[in-house]
Amino acid sequence: MAAARSPAGVSRPCPHCRTVILASAAVCPKCQHHLRFDVSNGQKSQPVATAFRLEGSIQNHAGNSAREYSVVVTVHNERGELLGREVVGVGAIRPNESRNITLSVEFPAAAEPLER
Ligand SMILES: [Zn+2]
Repeated sequence: MAAARSPAGVSRPCPHCRTVILASAAVCPKCQHHLRFDVSNGQKSQPVATAFRLEGSIQNHAGNSAREYSVVVTVHNERGELLGREVVGVGAIRPNESRNITLSVEFPAAAEPLER
């Protein structure tokens, strides 16, 4: 018998790192800890498909002083309404340093329908 699934989009904190993740996640996207064993396919982890991935880098060309930065992620729906805005990282970058930033959106690879 398959385990009951949560409605689509329900979230919960990861018991290991406390990041808010999907309740349906078998593996935490942040700390990579396994959260449940998928008995339907005998796999310990749920494969994911990357919907898209963006990579970029920043450099400090502002002379001899450090520059502070914030990495901000926003999510809008199809009507342009803001669903979420999060600061996922902050720091300072010294002259001649760089930071590489990658953003990816992942789906569970199994095309299993979720409750609505
Ligand atoms: Zn976690």
